[in-house]
Amino acid sequence: MGWRCKECGYYNDDRDNTCQNEQCPTHPNQRKSNRWWKCPLGHYNYENQQWCEKCGKPQSEAIAWGG
Ligand SMILES: [Zn+2]
Ligand SMILES: [Zn+2]
Repeated sequence: MGWRCKECGYYNDDRDNTCQNEQCPTHPNQRKSNRWWKCPLGHYNYENQQWCEKCGKPQSEAIAWGG
């Protein structure tokens, strides 16, 4: 059993509650590096994207990391 990360498609073990792919925006290392921002609808975008690539929200509406 396991689960597939919806952001990067990486397959994780059940005992992992965060994605183990270090390149994934949801990986703790990526959060610390602050290279990603999260749009109000929960999409992850790289810091150099001014608008969400999925819904078009501007980076100024980014929400704080959490959970
Ligand atoms: Zn992932
Ligand atoms: Zn979005």
